Amino acid sequence: MNRQDILTWLRERDERQLEQLYRQADVVRADHVGDDVHLRGLIEISSHCLRSCAYCGLRRPNQHAQRYRMSRSEILESVELAVGLGYGTVVLQSGQDHELTGDFVVDLIRQLKSASPLAVTLSLGERSLEELAAWRAAGADRYLLRFETSNRALYERIHPPLGNTRSDRIALLGHLRKLGYEIGGGVMVGIPGQTYEDLATDIETFRELDLDMIGIGPYLPHPMTPLAKEHDETQSTGGQQVPNSESMTYKVLALTRITCPLANIPSTTAVATLNRTDGLELGLMRGANVVMPNVTPMAYRRLYEIYPDKACLHEPSERFDQRLRERIRGIGRTVGIGRGDSPRMLAARRKTGAGVA
Ligand code: SAH
Repeated sequence: MNRQDILTWLRERDERQLEQLYRQADVVRADHVGDDVHLRGLIEISSHCLRSCAYCGLRRPNQHAQRYRMSRSEILESVELAVGLGYGTVVLQSGQDHELTGDFVVDLIRQLKSASPLAVTLSLGERSLEELAAWRAAGADRYLLRFETSNRALYERIHPPLGNTRSDRIALLGHLRKLGYEIGGGVMVGIPGQTYEDLATDIETFRELDLDMIGIGPYLPHPMTPLAKEHDETQSTGGQQVPNSESMTYKVLALTRITCPLANIPSTTAVATLNRTDGLELGLMRGANVVMPNVTPMAYRRLYEIYPDKACLHEPSERFDQRLRERIRGIGRTVGIGRGDSPRMLAARRKTGAGVA
């Protein structure tokens, strides 16, 4: 699929036409990564953040946000819950919180890796190369760092630098790859100021970076952020502005699957927030092969408010898990067993003849 095809699909509005695109994405998904849906237990370990991202409710200037940082034993309890539910991966996510020190995270990873065969994914923001290397050496397997948009000017507007250090998430993903991590990028769909051309470049960038994991969700305005006001103003302008709609998100998801057939792609909580009834299923039927059930303690989940009213706030992990398995079976899919490593990485290892861990 070339850039022009991608742009034509992004602008397509006829749902009957779009069914063709969705069918194609579903076939590519089945052929390349199969019917398994891999489950990753998401633990939101801290809501402290020293950045000022214009889109995110955790931004440091938001004084209304209540902050928490989970203790080691609380984190381990959530990990136990994830293991008990049969998840082969835990994802440790947080704001960019430097009081979660490099050493604390090293110890935590060591403890997790010595106790179980879990895969550990980190999503702790932009940390130093030394820290990222130490975490990898301690056993961390994967790192999620969405680049949010490939449009540099838009990125700088919504994701200001910390002090004098220029933020370059695309370069950081390259470093993470060299360190041996499976790498995950991704974008938000419908950021105020984002154009169709930008989204086409985002999808091309996924392919160029050869990502193992790609997260795509609608931009959801948080009232305590500067971007929410811009959102209200741009929605009526039409034209080049990409809507932050459910349908636009599925288009990007399907095009991403067709463009990056081997990637692990989640049906995200943000999609499920826009459509609580069957957003999760529709994501899985239009390219996704991963779900990240939230196993953060209920009291903290509400406080990890990157956007309001996240879909996971009301249901305890055990009950959600039970329903999730039924929902996955309900669309004719199977629940993945084990770590669900990157098919792209496994294929590369097979090619070089290296052993598979
Ligand atoms: N501090 C980490 C984790 C941030 S939360 C980091 O910056 O990488 C993970 C993702 O949530 C972000 O990368 C962003 O794409 C998404 N997100 C944040 N605020 C959002 C919003 N208002 N609407 C939709 N997605 C949002």
